[in-house]
Amino acid sequence: MELLKWYQKEQRDLPWRRSRDPYHIWVSEIMLQQTRVDTVIPYFNRFVDRFPSLQELAAAPEDEVLKHWEGLGYYSRARNLQTAVREVVEKYGSQVPSGKKEISGLKGVGPYTAGAILSIAYNQPEPAVDGNVMRVLSRYFCLEDDIARPSTRISMEGLAQELIPAGEAADFNQALMELGAMVCTPKSPTCSECPVTAMCLGRQQGREKELPLKTKAKKARPVFRFAALVEGTGANAGKVLVRQRPDTGLLAKMWELPHIEVADADEWEIMSTGKAKLEEAALEDGVRLRVTEQVVGEAQHIFTHLVWNIRVLAATATEETYVADRTSYAWVGPEQFESYVWPNVFRKLLTEYFIHAINE
Ligand code: SF4
Repeated sequence: MELLKWYQKEQRDLPWRRSRDPYHIWVSEIMLQQTRVDTVIPYFNRFVDRFPSLQELAAAPEDEVLKHWEGLGYYSRARNLQTAVREVVEKYGSQVPSGKKEISGLKGVGPYTAGAILSIAYNQPEPAVDGNVMRVLSRYFCLEDDIARPSTRISMEGLAQELIPAGEAADFNQALMELGAMVCTPKSPTCSECPVTAMCLGRQQGREKELPLKTKAKKARPVFRFAALVEGTGANAGKVLVRQRPDTGLLAKMWELPHIEVADADEWEIMSTGKAKLEEAALEDGVRLRVTEQVVGEAQHIFTHLVWNIRVLAATATEETYVADRTSYAWVGPEQFESYVWPNVFRKLLTEYFIHAINE
């Protein structure tokens, strides 16, 4: 079959393709969700180097797992992975289950990930249909179903399963994914180099660029925030006051600059509002801040459905007025910085601040 021949010749040498270890495949598939291959490679290598087995990942402190995920985003993926790995260690004798029902019951393992592990690691004829594969199938069969609809995914899974040649599930599924990633790309498919171009209905009908059909996702909602960059004095000189996020929810347990949300973009233009609200919110946590109206930084953090716009105001807090709950607030300097887990936006803001402070 042309596609398999092409894959055997052209496949990229990716670290998770060097073995059929289901644990490695699992980690790679979770990391690759919403994330580019080039970005994932160094993270994957560091992760399996530090947690080479399911047992080691299961036994690791959550903080350390998050530290190895820091910068990849979508941190619930890392938490769910560790929860699921613990279940595998306890319930399945540290063997990644090869049954569809068992593997699909693990936290964070959806139909795509289950199909990818079962087919790639265990060569089972299970489909693994992600956005890449849906694009290829839509074009190849000239399908007009809206790929944003769950029912389309289900019908494509049925179709993809029928296409798997006997005994070739691992390579066939990877070949489809690779074709979508390398040749049948979203904006400009290189049909002239495609191994299945002769049979592709979308190409024959000149519709390869208009397929697949997909209704637009809702636009991410912008929110507006003020953060305080609280510089320490006395014993805390050179350090910045940071706080830990709650145990659950968005970016759970990660560290950040204290910050608050204002009503809209108009309110975000009024520094005195940011100052007053930051001081008030900190006081509720037992921290007396003196926030200024001086803007020392701006940043944006983009989530799937949300965009945080953050404006940073300079602030101070003396040691005496700092009476916070010490488990959720901390003074952090450049030496302690790497022992904490940061969302990208705060890592960037603080790194810039420390570099600037050191160079001054
Ligand atoms: S011929 Fe073009 S549209 Fe069809 S599968 Fe190949 S790259 Fe995609």
